[in-house]
Amino acid sequence: MRLGTPSDIKLIDENGLRVDGRTPEQLRPIKIQTDVLNRADGSAYIEWGGGNKIMVAVYGPREAYPRHTQDIERAIVKARYNMAAFSVDERKKPGPDRRSVEISKVISEALQAAILVEQFPRAQIDVFIEVLQADAGTRIAGLTAASVALAAAGVPMRDLVVGGCTAGKVDGQIVLDLCREEDNFGQADLPMAILARSGKVVLIQMDGDLTTEEFDRATSMILNATKRINQIQREALQGKYIAEQGGE
Ligand code: UDP
Repeated sequence: MRLGTPSDIKLIDENGLRVDGRTPEQLRPIKIQTDVLNRADGSAYIEWGGGNKIMVAVYGPREAYPRHTQDIERAIVKARYNMAAFSVDERKKPGPDRRSVEISKVISEALQAAILVEQFPRAQIDVFIEVLQADAGTRIAGLTAASVALAAAGVPMRDLVVGGCTAGKVDGQIVLDLCREEDNFGQADLPMAILARSGKVVLIQMDGDLTTEEFDRATSMILNATKRINQIQREALQGKYIAEQGGE
């Protein structure tokens, strides 16, 4: 959500460091934990930086209801992205709004590309993404955790994971993984998500403006970061399977 750049806010200091002390290509720390909810078929909790805390619950595949929503050829994926009222500085009015409907749609489509939906005609897979605390990058953090929760639920996937990151332009420089000040007061942001194995882009949005060179630089930074993020996703899932087999 860009608010424009007030001239008194400096987002990159004289040493080239960002407001939270990171270098332009540095990711915030990411932690993912699976199986945190007993009643869901699969779940994951992600902390992306200290500021983003998101819980994901997956249900299904189960018969799609109401029936007229069923697709006779494939399962439908219904992601619902929701921000808690207390997740942001200014109380967020509860319930869906234009932004959450848009984010739910783009996440549903990205997940649909990763899941073997044709194996489950007439079914639906529900993915609830609850943002408990937000500090920019929540759609990508939510999608990254949703993919882990789906794999933890045993939902067959074309590609084990879909993960991504946001890049953007602040103070005229391309930087990776925008924090809230950068997202709000920077000149552009570009969230993107990729299927790990095939490299297929399943989500890309852009706010603001970039030259084609800047766009190329931003997307190559994201591609690099996605490898690291996929690794974190795999480690979260390996932890789950080791625990299931009675190990550590
Ligand atoms: N945000 C907010 N109130 C809102 C929506 C967003 O304070 O109603 C903040 C929140 O920290 C969010 C950030 O603005 O993470 C960036 O929002 P954007 O729409 O760019 O989506 P995101 O980067 O979270 O995917």
